[in-house]
Amino acid sequence: MADAADAGSGATDGRLRVILLGPPNSGKGTQGAALCRRLGIPAISTGDMLREEVKAGSPLGRKVDGIMASGGLVDDDTIDQVVRGRLGRVPDDGGFLLDGYPRTLAQARTLEEILGTLGDRDGNNRGVDVVLLMQVPDEELVRRGLGRKREDDREEVIRERLRVYRENTEPLIGYYSERGLLREIDGSRPISEVTSQMLAALGVAGVLG
Ligand code: AMP
Repeated sequence: MADAADAGSGATDGRLRVILLGPPNSGKGTQGAALCRRLGIPAISTGDMLREEVKAGSPLGRKVDGIMASGGLVDDDTIDQVVRGRLGRVPDDGGFLLDGYPRTLAQARTLEEILGTLGDRDGNNRGVDVVLLMQVPDEELVRRGLGRKREDDREEVIRERLRVYRENTEPLIGYYSERGLLREIDGSRPISEVTSQMLAALGVAGVLG
Protein backbone atom coordinates (compact mmCIF):
# COMPACT_ATOMS: atom_id res chain seq x y z
CA MET A 1 0.00 0.00 0.00
CA ALA A 2 2.39 2.63 -1.19
CA ASP A 3 0.11 5.54 -1.96
CA ALA A 4 -3.36 6.93 -1.45
CA ALA A 5 -4.62 5.54 -4.74
CA ASP A 6 -4.02 2.04 -3.40
CA ALA A 7 -5.46 2.91 -0.04
CA GLY A 8 -9.08 2.22 -0.94
CA SER A 9 -8.76 -1.53 -1.20
CA GLY A 10 -7.41 -1.96 2.29
CA ALA A 11 -8.81 1.17 3.83
CA THR A 12 -11.50 -0.36 6.01
CA ASP A 13 -9.53 -3.34 7.26
CA GLY A 14 -7.55 -1.45 9.83
CA ARG A 15 -4.27 -1.26 7.94
CA LEU A 16 -4.12 2.35 6.78
CA ARG A 17 -1.36 4.52 8.28
CA VAL A 18 -2.31 8.17 8.36
CA ILE A 19 -0.77 11.37 9.70
CA LEU A 20 -3.15 14.25 10.43
CA LEU A 21 -1.19 17.46 9.99
CA GLY A 22 -2.60 20.90 10.68
CA PRO A 23 -2.49 23.92 12.98
CA PRO A 24 -3.98 23.91 16.47
CA ASN A 25 -7.80 24.19 16.42
CA SER A 26 -8.01 23.00 12.82
CA GLY A 27 -10.23 20.11 13.93
CA LYS A 28 -7.71 17.28 14.01
CA GLY A 29 -9.25 15.68 17.12
CA THR A 30 -12.80 15.70 15.75
CA GLN A 31 -11.84 14.55 12.27
CA GLY A 32 -9.37 12.01 13.60
CA ALA A 33 -12.08 10.36 15.70
CA ALA A 34 -14.47 10.18 12.72
CA LEU A 35 -11.80 8.73 10.44
CA CYS A 36 -10.68 6.17 12.99
CA ARG A 37 -14.24 4.91 13.47
CA ARG A 38 -14.67 4.62 9.71
CA LEU A 39 -11.30 3.01 9.04
CA GLY A 40 -11.08 0.77 12.10
CA ILE A 41 -7.71 2.14 13.19
CA PRO A 42 -6.57 3.56 16.54
CA ALA A 43 -5.96 7.27 17.00
CA ILE A 44 -2.58 8.02 18.52
CA SER A 45 -2.52 11.55 19.93
CA THR A 46 0.65 12.64 21.72
CA GLY A 47 -1.30 15.60 23.17
CA ASP A 48 -3.87 13.23 24.74
CA MET A 49 -1.15 10.94 26.06
CA LEU A 50 0.70 13.87 27.64
CA ARG A 51 -2.51 15.29 29.14
CA GLU A 52 -3.14 11.91 30.79
CA GLU A 53 0.33 12.04 32.33
CA VAL A 54 -0.33 15.56 33.62
CA LYS A 55 -3.65 14.45 35.11
CA ALA A 56 -2.04 11.46 36.78
CA GLY A 57 0.68 13.68 38.23
CA SER A 58 3.42 11.33 36.98
CA PRO A 59 7.06 12.50 36.73
CA LEU A 60 6.59 12.89 32.96
CA GLY A 61 3.37 14.82 33.55
CA ARG A 62 5.06 17.18 36.00
CA LYS A 63 7.89 17.74 33.53
CA VAL A 64 5.65 18.71 30.59
CA ASP A 65 2.82 20.53 32.38
CA GLY A 66 4.31 24.03 32.19
CA ILE A 67 5.49 23.67 28.60
CA MET A 68 2.06 22.53 27.45
CA ALA A 69 0.32 25.35 29.31
CA SER A 70 2.56 27.93 27.64
CA GLY A 71 1.89 26.61 24.12
CA GLY A 72 5.48 25.48 23.57
CA LEU A 73 6.70 22.12 22.32
CA VAL A 74 7.79 19.28 24.56
CA ASP A 75 11.37 18.26 23.64
CA ASP A 76 11.90 15.66 20.90
CA ASP A 77 13.57 13.06 23.15
CA THR A 78 10.60 12.98 25.51
CA ILE A 79 8.12 12.72 22.64
CA ASP A 80 10.28 10.03 21.08
CA GLN A 81 9.97 7.85 24.19
CA VAL A 82 6.22 8.35 24.44
CA VAL A 83 5.63 7.49 20.78
CA ARG A 84 8.06 4.57 20.64
CA GLY A 85 6.20 2.87 23.47
CA ARG A 86 2.83 3.34 21.82
CA LEU A 87 3.86 2.40 18.27
CA GLY A 88 5.60 -0.66 19.66
CA ARG A 89 2.15 -2.00 20.50
CA VAL A 90 0.84 -1.61 16.94
CA PRO A 91 0.51 -5.02 15.25
CA ASP A 92 3.08 -5.72 12.52
CA ASP A 93 0.88 -4.67 9.66
CA GLY A 94 -1.64 -2.66 11.65
CA GLY A 95 -2.86 0.81 10.81
CA PHE A 96 -3.08 3.97 12.93
CA LEU A 97 -3.84 7.65 12.74
CA LEU A 98 -1.27 10.04 14.21
CA ASP A 99 -2.73 13.28 15.56
CA GLY A 100 -0.35 16.00 16.73
CA TYR A 101 2.73 13.95 15.87
CA PRO A 102 5.20 14.44 14.24
CA ARG A 103 5.52 18.17 14.98
CA THR A 104 9.16 18.74 14.04
CA LEU A 105 11.41 17.52 11.23
CA ALA A 106 13.45 15.60 13.80
CA GLN A 107 10.28 13.81 14.93
CA ALA A 108 9.40 12.98 11.31
CA ARG A 109 12.80 11.40 10.79
CA THR A 110 12.50 9.50 14.06
CA LEU A 111 9.07 8.23 12.98
CA GLU A 112 10.59 6.80 9.80
CA GLU A 113 13.22 5.10 11.87
CA ILE A 114 10.63 3.71 14.34
CA LEU A 115 8.47 2.36 11.52
CA GLY A 116 11.54 0.80 9.98
CA THR A 117 11.91 -1.26 13.13
CA LEU A 118 8.24 -2.29 13.20
CA GLY A 119 6.59 -4.99 11.17
CA ASP A 120 9.76 -6.35 9.66
CA ARG A 121 9.29 -10.00 10.57
CA ASP A 122 8.92 -10.82 6.89
CA GLY A 123 11.07 -7.97 5.67
CA ASN A 124 8.04 -5.87 4.87
CA ASN A 125 8.61 -2.54 6.55
CA ARG A 126 5.73 -0.20 5.99
CA GLY A 127 5.85 3.54 6.43
CA VAL A 128 3.07 6.11 6.43
CA ASP A 129 0.51 5.81 3.60
CA VAL A 130 -0.95 9.32 3.56
CA VAL A 131 -0.48 12.70 5.24
CA LEU A 132 -3.68 14.75 5.41
CA LEU A 133 -3.00 18.48 5.76
CA MET A 134 -5.86 20.51 7.22
CA GLN A 135 -5.81 24.09 5.99
CA VAL A 136 -7.77 26.72 7.97
CA PRO A 137 -7.25 30.52 7.91
CA ASP A 138 -5.52 31.93 11.03
CA GLU A 139 -8.40 34.11 12.19
CA GLU A 140 -10.78 31.16 12.02
CA LEU A 141 -8.32 29.12 14.10
CA VAL A 142 -8.17 31.82 16.78
CA ARG A 143 -11.97 32.20 16.74
CA ARG A 144 -12.41 28.45 17.21
CA GLY A 145 -9.81 28.41 19.98
CA LEU A 146 -11.55 31.18 21.90
CA GLY A 147 -14.82 29.28 21.63
CA ARG A 148 -13.32 26.42 23.62
CA LYS A 149 -13.57 26.21 27.37
CA ARG A 150 -10.11 24.88 28.11
CA GLU A 151 -8.17 26.96 30.56
CA ASP A 152 -5.02 26.94 28.41
CA ASP A 153 -6.86 28.33 25.42
CA ARG A 154 -6.43 32.02 26.20
CA GLU A 155 -5.80 34.13 23.10
CA GLU A 156 -2.09 34.68 23.76
CA VAL A 157 -1.55 30.93 24.17
CA ILE A 158 -3.59 30.23 21.05
CA ARG A 159 -1.42 32.64 19.05
CA GLU A 160 1.74 31.17 20.56
CA ARG A 161 0.67 27.66 19.51
CA LEU A 162 0.07 28.99 16.02
CA ARG A 163 3.49 30.66 15.89
CA VAL A 164 5.14 27.44 17.09
CA TYR A 165 3.24 25.50 14.42
CA ARG A 166 4.44 27.84 11.65
CA GLU A 167 8.01 27.73 12.84
CA ASN A 168 8.46 24.06 13.76
CA THR A 169 5.71 22.03 12.13
CA GLU A 170 5.06 23.70 8.78
CA PRO A 171 8.40 22.49 7.38
CA LEU A 172 6.81 19.02 7.45
CA ILE A 173 4.56 20.10 4.59
CA GLY A 174 7.54 20.22 2.23
CA TYR A 175 9.00 17.06 3.74
CA TYR A 176 5.90 14.95 3.06
CA SER A 177 5.07 16.71 -0.19
CA GLU A 178 8.50 15.70 -1.57
CA ARG A 179 7.69 12.13 -0.64
CA GLY A 180 4.40 12.29 -2.54
CA LEU A 181 2.34 11.63 0.60
CA LEU A 182 0.62 14.99 1.15
CA ARG A 183 -3.11 15.57 0.50
CA GLU A 184 -4.56 19.02 1.23
CA ILE A 185 -7.94 19.34 2.91
CA ASP A 186 -10.03 22.52 3.26
CA GLY A 187 -10.61 22.41 7.00
CA SER A 188 -12.74 25.55 7.03
CA ARG A 189 -15.76 23.63 5.65
CA PRO A 190 -18.50 22.13 7.87
CA ILE A 191 -17.41 19.03 9.83
CA SER A 192 -19.13 16.37 7.69
CA GLU A 193 -17.81 17.93 4.46
CA VAL A 194 -14.28 17.89 5.82
CA THR A 195 -14.67 14.21 6.73
CA SER A 196 -15.90 13.46 3.20
CA GLN A 197 -12.94 15.30 1.67
CA MET A 198 -10.63 13.23 3.82
CA LEU A 199 -12.22 9.92 2.92
CA ALA A 200 -11.99 10.90 -0.74
CA ALA A 201 -8.31 11.78 -0.31
CA LEU A 202 -7.77 8.37 1.30
CA GLY A 203 -9.48 6.67 -1.61
CA VAL A 204 -12.36 5.52 0.59
CA ALA A 205 -15.75 5.74 -1.13
CA GLY A 206 -18.88 7.05 0.54
CA VAL A 207 -19.66 9.56 3.23
CA LEU A 208 -20.31 9.08 6.90
CA GLY A 209 -23.87 8.21 7.84
P1 AMP B 1 -2.23 18.91 21.14
O1 AMP B 1 -3.38 18.36 21.91
O2 AMP B 1 -1.78 18.00 20.03
O3 AMP B 1 -2.45 20.32 20.66
O4 AMP B 1 -0.99 18.97 22.14
C1 AMP B 1 -1.03 19.76 23.31
C2 AMP B 1 0.38 20.15 23.75
O5 AMP B 1 1.14 18.98 24.02
C3 AMP B 1 1.18 20.89 22.70
O6 AMP B 1 0.91 22.26 22.70
C4 AMP B 1 2.60 20.58 23.13
O7 AMP B 1 2.99 21.34 24.25
C5 AMP B 1 2.49 19.14 23.57
N1 AMP B 1 2.71 18.19 22.45
C6 AMP B 1 1.80 17.32 21.92
N2 AMP B 1 2.34 16.62 20.91
C7 AMP B 1 3.62 17.05 20.78
C8 AMP B 1 4.69 16.74 19.89
N3 AMP B 1 4.54 15.82 18.91
N4 AMP B 1 5.86 17.42 20.05
C9 AMP B 1 6.03 18.33 21.01
N5 AMP B 1 5.06 18.68 21.87
C10 AMP B 1 3.86 18.06 21.76
